[in-house]
Amino acid sequence: MSKPITGVTAGGAVWTPAFVQSIAQERCIGCGRCFKVCPRDVFDLVDRADVLDADEIDDFDDLDDDNAQVMNIKNALDCIGCEACSRVCPKDCFTHTALPQAA
Ligand code: SF4
Ligand code: SF4
Repeated sequence: MSKPITGVTAGGAVWTPAFVQSIAQERCIGCGRCFKVCPRDVFDLVDRADVLDADEIDDFDDLDDDNAQVMNIKNALDCIGCEACSRVCPKDCFTHTALPQAA
């Protein structure tokens, strides 16, 4: 990868953001924790039946009627790569990656 996007802390330390790439919606329980901690406008809740097929829904036996929605990435380009969403997710749904700087 060409030079990654980096940030700088208040103390001057360089760090590499890990931007959200995907949510494993077949594991998501729709708890909303990621939505609450995200400092940007990246997520929205959507109906499970709109993003997963019936087999994927049947395969996950933790679900009941309270889990009718799953988290969705609506605006990945607003992510700042802080990884707060991953830290609070109880189902380890997120993948993140560094991204190259624009040419
Ligand atoms: S990495 Fe940070 S900014 Fe990006 S989606 Fe997760 S909580 Fe939001
Ligand atoms: S924190 Fe994890 S399980 Fe909860 S809504 Fe977000 S992705 Fe789904």
